[in-house]
Amino acid sequence: MKSFMTADRRQTLRVDVAGVIIGGGQPVAVQSMTNTDTADVLATVQQVRELAEAGSELVRITVNSDEAAAAVAPIRAALDRAGCAVPLIGDFHFNGHKLLAEHPACAEALAKYRINPGNVGRGSKRDPQFAAMIETACRYNKPVRIGVNWGSLDQELLARVMDENNARAEPHSAQQVMREALVRSALDSAERAMQIGLPADRIVLSAKVSAVQDLIMVYRDLAARSRHPLHLGLTEAGMGSKGIVASTAALAVLLQSGIGDTIRVSLTPEPGGDRSREVIVAQEILQTMGLRSFTPLVIACPGCGRTTSTYFQSLAQSIQEHLRQRMPEWRRTHTGVENMSVAVMGCVVNGPGESKQANIGISLPGTGERPVAPVYEDGEKTVTLKGERIAEEFQQLVESYVARRYPRRTEA
Ligand code: SF4
Repeated sequence: MKSFMTADRRQTLRVDVAGVIIGGGQPVAVQSMTNTDTADVLATVQQVRELAEAGSELVRITVNSDEAAAAVAPIRAALDRAGCAVPLIGDFHFNGHKLLAEHPACAEALAKYRINPGNVGRGSKRDPQFAAMIETACRYNKPVRIGVNWGSLDQELLARVMDENNARAEPHSAQQVMREALVRSALDSAERAMQIGLPADRIVLSAKVSAVQDLIMVYRDLAARSRHPLHLGLTEAGMGSKGIVASTAALAVLLQSGIGDTIRVSLTPEPGGDRSREVIVAQEILQTMGLRSFTPLVIACPGCGRTTSTYFQSLAQSIQEHLRQRMPEWRRTHTGVENMSVAVMGCVVNGPGESKQANIGISLPGTGERPVAPVYEDGEKTVTLKGERIAEEFQQLVESYVARRYPRRTEA
């Protein structure tokens, strides 16, 4: 894995989640969550595999019932049989203490437990139920994420922080109080977990909210007040472009200042949409920021009045899909392909220039230009394509470029 910002990253403890390291200066890990019924083993295995194949390095599944808890070990076994080693994280609310106690195979099969301190129990049940989950984590040597969410913020803690605020000479705003309560919930719960016996380097923290500015302020505060690695994510980011833009805006600001050790993009899929999209968006955030590389990126111009055809748009799309599809194999067979840049441009204005900057690029003909498409490799024009099969021929040239330019892995 490649990271360009290691020196600027916030120093944190290093948490080992079944071989995937979160924090400690390691590259920011991508994670995702299934939306299948965990009790449905086949559907969950299928979706975990799809998410892992898309590049999710950790996958969270909800564990909300006896049936779901009983399905966890069979899910793990089926994934192992299929050669899918991605660590599974169990998401617990309300009855996690009970499920972990009554389903030891589930407690063992999971690589990490997500515990929401706002949802572990009310009143006098809260502390013992939280302690029971932490004791299970200690017994099975599992790390936990203390995952606070403003939609389920511990109301007793919030009331206490509000009382403290009311006693101040100059009280803070309601928004500041809410943010302080979120941070305190995460920090106090981590402290309690350590008192119970969980080592500090088995704790990841998160405190998710759905508003970008609040999220940035909460995480800056959390980063300043703890050494635990941080899981970043804008909760309830929403659908489509809104969800992507809001997540990117929040995560980019934090990542740029060195905050964040693992990310999840909480997109609401379109009906029938692909759950793996959240993985691709998370990867693209990290890759476009130059923090990590996953899949070759296509540089394409937006098109304008100089090109009346949509041919280059379809070519850009088909090449990006082809690269994404080929990447799992290239990752196994060649070193460094994820850093390759491919340009698909619409006319002669910026086409040759941008194509020369890319590893391999094609400049399609704009309106009124000769119907030819020069191809550039490492800054040099190598061939000119024309006719009906430009897309297939360019795809073939990309394949040959990868075979020639990137060393074969010896173990492949
Ligand atoms: S490269 Fe050509 S087609 Fe593309 S946006 Fe620029 S001028 Fe328009």
